[in-house]
Amino acid sequence: MAKKERNIIEVAEKNESNKKIGVDSKGKLVEVKETPKEGAKTKRIIAICLWLVGIFFEVVAILRLKGTIDWIPSMSETVFLIVCLVLDCIAVLIGSQFWKKANHIDPASEKNPTKFWIQNNLGSIISVIAFLPIIIFVLTDKDMDKKNKTIVSVVAIVALLVAGIGSYDFNPVSMEQVEKAQQEVLATGNYDVNEDGEAIVYWAEHSKKYHVDKDCPALQNSENVYFGTVKAAYEKGLTEPCRRCIHELEEEHTEEEKQ
Ligand SMILES: [Zn+2]
Repeated sequence: MAKKERNIIEVAEKNESNKKIGVDSKGKLVEVKETPKEGAKTKRIIAICLWLVGIFFEVVAILRLKGTIDWIPSMSETVFLIVCLVLDCIAVLIGSQFWKKANHIDPASEKNPTKFWIQNNLGSIISVIAFLPIIIFVLTDKDMDKKNKTIVSVVAIVALLVAGIGSYDFNPVSMEQVEKAQQEVLATGNYDVNEDGEAIVYWAEHSKKYHVDKDCPALQNSENVYFGTVKAAYEKGLTEPCRRCIHELEEEHTEEEKQ
């Protein structure tokens, strides 16, 4: 069976360099589309700005509820509050996606458990700040009628849950985890290196795992095969090695050493 022709494309680490060129199967240089423009720092700044926008909408809602402001008087208080809550939720959620992405590019160390926990859960903490005060204000408001109170508080609680869960990183990455993964690749003794001499791994467009072996059967049918350091794979959200690759290469390596 003829081997399918594949493009082998390099993906640079976001925090490291700005390589824009990869190589295809014939050794021809091709442009790399997913080249990063922003590092973790930019993403964190965007996240914080969006979170502040979310909290701003919460403050506006509280001020309207208290009668301090009367923006868009034609809109009923209930509708106004719901609009604010929805905008709050959207801003917090988008901000948290930037934050999560930044944590995968530039992970925290597990050596400081408090910092690690806060950094990985900040999106959910912000969600509480962005919704809990307004929920308390609505529930304790004396002027609001019961029906509107129920509607607004239900919307606010749902928004808190959506933002809180959507901001939570179910797969947090630590510096140590990336280092361990790198060691595991090195331990196979049978890996490819990039031009800087760093060990590289491969993955396909929709891969959930990264591969040490470019010719792993799991990659055979992919038109584009990407490669990069383990760190670059982690940045792409690939945090699982293909066990088949790791074990077979390890075995091959041991066989070679025996001979
Ligand atoms: Zn594999």
